[in-house]
Amino acid sequence: MKIILLGAPGAGKGTVAKLLSDDDGSVQVSTGDILRAEVKARSPLGKEAKSYMDRGDLVPDALIMKMMEERLQKPDCRKGFILDGFPRTITQAEELQKLLKKLKIRLDLVVNLDVPRDVILDRLSTRRTCANPGCQEIYNIKSKPPTAEGKCAKCGSPVVQREDETEEAILFRLDTYNQKTVPLIGYYDKEGRLRNFSSISSQQTVEEIKKALKSGQR
Ligand code: ADP
Ligand code: ZN
Repeated sequence: MKIILLGAPGAGKGTVAKLLSDDDGSVQVSTGDILRAEVKARSPLGKEAKSYMDRGDLVPDALIMKMMEERLQKPDCRKGFILDGFPRTITQAEELQKLLKKLKIRLDLVVNLDVPRDVILDRLSTRRTCANPGCQEIYNIKSKPPTAEGKCAKCGSPVVQREDETEEAILFRLDTYNQKTVPLIGYYDKEGRLRNFSSISSQQTVEEIKKALKSGQR
């Protein structure tokens, strides 16, 4: 499958992307995961991105586009990809359209995860993430706790609260989402590519997305 996942921080993009990827082998491409790995590695990109990320602001479009142009041409994307956290601005969406045209790739679907604000706020404050850049499994202290020692059940690394998950940064990220990313819903709706999914169960959302993809193929 070749899809875009849109949705507020905490809407479940990462969880849904991982489930879809387990299901058919399409690769999850999370710009947030890639950026966090770059920050950990102290690469030039990571150094430039860090201050934006820590305050919950968006990393400049030019940096993101350069990173994604390379990422989408890697062989693992040929079979299919799930874009998680990208595009996030109208500029990124327009640039992505040009890039896909150049690479002769056609998207199957744009998925909008439409989850109520109170659910999102609750999830973000209880969310924890595996600190291993190559894993980044998502946990929740209420619904999906790490091991009793606070370690990742998949890789054994410590499970931590992200630096941009202080209350202040969370509210800033939600504002940024409303201002810069919400307009993409209209952008893709106009193109007739958008479908809304409002289940708060990730598993159910995944089933609904698979159904939508199948009916699109007919
Ligand atoms: P969430 O969706 O929970 O906010 P992500 O892991 O997708 O978190 O992103 C974390 C941070 O990485 C964002 O707050 C932003 O600083 C940066 N980022 C991720 N994707 C993009 C993007 N497409 N454009 C600009 N910045 C991005
Ligand atoms: Zn892990």
